Amino acid sequence: MKKVIVYIGLFIGLFFCIGIFCYIRYINSSNHQTKKYIQSLKSKINYYIPTYQQRYIDYKQKHWNLSDEDVVTYVNLNLDKNFYTNTFPSPYQNTKYILINKFYYVDKKYVPNHLKIIKNCTKGNIYLVEEALTHFEQMCKDIKKENLNIRAISAYRDYNYQLNLYNRYLVNDTKENVDTYSARPGYSEHQSGLTVDIDNLVTDFNDFESTDEFLWMQKNAYKYGFILRYPKDKENITGYMYESWHYRYVGKKVATYIKKHNITFDEYYARFLNTMVNYS
Ligand SMILES: [Zn+2]
Repeated sequence: MKKVIVYIGLFIGLFFCIGIFCYIRYINSSNHQTKKYIQSLKSKINYYIPTYQQRYIDYKQKHWNLSDEDVVTYVNLNLDKNFYTNTFPSPYQNTKYILINKFYYVDKKYVPNHLKIIKNCTKGNIYLVEEALTHFEQMCKDIKKENLNIRAISAYRDYNYQLNLYNRYLVNDTKENVDTYSARPGYSEHQSGLTVDIDNLVTDFNDFESTDEFLWMQKNAYKYGFILRYPKDKENITGYMYESWHYRYVGKKVATYIKKHNITFDEYYARFLNTMVNYS
């Protein structure tokens, strides 16, 4: 009887070992396959960054549903890391290609060159970088021809303004919530001087989406080089809730591409601008 129990024990033990062995082989071969597959993307995707290879593999394994282009784009944007970790100073400072988001920041002292006060279509003393301002005022002129109105309610904001704003929100809300609708100081696109919040003079800016002016902006803003910066259903990429009132000047060429392909500026940046900067 004892012998039989020993044999059964040995039998079970053997099966267990074979199981473990097969499992390890399976994991290794699937890792190997993913690695090979990711390496093959190098020749297909020109914004592939070789030093990010392991990150692409890890991200692909967690997000099989994403297209290869999206995996590479999202990792290039650091979306495999938590917001406000892995942060870098923004490249392209003082150009219309500057990216300021939850991974790219500008210095406390950063004040863009060529800031000018908006003369027409504004609520008060509001400043934009000259190139953005020229296009904003033209856009405002043109929308008026259709008996519609837009005006700037906020544009350039310096570091301290954003610091106070963010801290004020924190009085009544959790940090986790505040981060979905307000940028931390240094990480606000408003500090670029290329961003403008608008309303239509009568409707609260929060309801801008319900106005005819919003529909006009949806159709025409790109012709003036402006994009809706935080679109609906892109919160996972931008890190911000949908804001129908917040527009960013990126120039006509980039705005046209972004509109045509229904992507965010972050994605555009990862695909066309990030590759010009050498990260390791
Ligand atoms: Zn804004």
